[in-house]
Amino acid sequence: MTYVAGKVWLVGAGPSDPGLFTLKGKAVLEQADVVVYDKLVGQGVLAMIPEKTERIFVGKVSGNHPVPQQEINQILLREAQKGKQVVRLKGGDPFVFGRGGEELELLSQNGIAFEIVPGITSAVAVPAYNGIPVTHRDFVSSLHIITGHTKKSDEAEIDYEALVKLDGTYIFLMGVASIPKICAGLLGAGIEPDMPAAILERGTTAHQRRIVSDVSHLPAEAEKAAVKTPAIIVVGKVCALAEEFHWAEDRPLGGLKIAVTRPRDRSSELAQKLALLGAELVLLPAIETKEIENNDALEEAFHHMNEYDWAVFTSPVGVEIFFNKLRAMKKDIRSLASLQFAAIGSATKKSIEEKGILVNLMPHEYSGKALGELLTQTVLQEEQERSRKVRLLIPRAKIGTEDVLKPLAAAGIGYEDLPIYDTIESSDCENRMEQDIDYVAFTSASTVKGFVKQTGLTDFKHIKAVCIGKKTAEEAENYGMQIIVAKEATIDSMLECFKQLAH
Ligand code: SAH
Repeated sequence: MTYVAGKVWLVGAGPSDPGLFTLKGKAVLEQADVVVYDKLVGQGVLAMIPEKTERIFVGKVSGNHPVPQQEINQILLREAQKGKQVVRLKGGDPFVFGRGGEELELLSQNGIAFEIVPGITSAVAVPAYNGIPVTHRDFVSSLHIITGHTKKSDEAEIDYEALVKLDGTYIFLMGVASIPKICAGLLGAGIEPDMPAAILERGTTAHQRRIVSDVSHLPAEAEKAAVKTPAIIVVGKVCALAEEFHWAEDRPLGGLKIAVTRPRDRSSELAQKLALLGAELVLLPAIETKEIENNDALEEAFHHMNEYDWAVFTSPVGVEIFFNKLRAMKKDIRSLASLQFAAIGSATKKSIEEKGILVNLMPHEYSGKALGELLTQTVLQEEQERSRKVRLLIPRAKIGTEDVLKPLAAAGIGYEDLPIYDTIESSDCENRMEQDIDYVAFTSASTVKGFVKQTGLTDFKHIKAVCIGKKTAEEAENYGMQIIVAKEATIDSMLECFKQLAH
């Protein structure tokens, strides 16, 4: 008897949009030791795999041939027998033309424990993202999901006569190469020649395409449009409803694929808002932040907090680290009672306010210079009123810009520039910079630098950079990117900028 602690989860990743991945799937993914995935799994879902997790890509090997099914089965068995928690991640639903059953056979024979996490199948979700309800009471009473490509050969062995009699909605998966054959089969079996039919390419992504026609004309239209896989074919009266019900591309940022760089350990306000407005996101973990350990200077500052009059923050992550340390030292915000608070911009302000502290000062423009100048002005006035020196504590990144400090130093204001975290470029970017990204969003000059390092590109002329402010734009311009600068240096102003670019 061998003891086997390994287990396999067969998980459906949905059709591509990461928002369509299930909560259970995500939870399972986060505890996996190894993830075995293929090419239909969306980038957004892949980005949810933790950095430490081993990945095995079985979509393609050299020469574009997929890894044979038997070999995939063996990989799953082998990994589980090593005692690993294995997630087999598949596009759509694992049991809808996903060979999920085949993969379970070997596991079951070998007594490997498994679970299934269903996914949203492209057969239903892709029509939905194109405004096609696959059933509609006024038109059809059945829905059929058919493979355009059978197991033994490329010839589809479909009983068209039987299908046409059912008078339903027909969804063909894996049918791009057989569009003429499928349409001819249906026509031969007596379907009305003007029966609406559609091809839906890359559904649920920013660049999804829809070609709506009828069964007689679909093959020519598909050829003209050079349709590529993945795409589904929908035949039935419901296809005509797309004209009225299309919606995905009409969202404020529908059709835009935007790369966003952000620190890995916190979510990005910008990314969340872009996604809600309908953009497809590529999250580039360009910068990682790391708390400086054994930070004596910070501890020292906490012991003498009443010697400072202001705490100045230049990033939300700085706020988090500062307050975590406070707690770790068994103190709370009462020990900060002597301080006024300054924030560089709205995200930092929000983080401070979440700690139960109102922010006293924030510049109009998001920049170190503006913060430094506004502080200088305010502090000089305070010093006059109080007839004493005022002292600032500036907990921030180790390699921060000098812009904040310059005006303070020039005015002779006393401050302590206190490094509490380091920014490190992340090593895991796995070339997420695919060809079809429309824009890259930059919220600081350092995100530009990180991006340049990460992508390994040498030519940035084709990159369209949407920048939060002048400083960021200057940096992007240095690398020859095409720049677009938000009117005001705020996230909301960046969103406005994208809305204009989308339409
Ligand atoms: N298990 C998957 C289907 C796998 S078969 C599911 O439930 O969705 C692969 C076929 O799925 C492709 O050839 C294509 O027809 C379809 N498909 C998958 N994702 C798609 C997408 N985003 N857009 C259009 N078709 C897709």
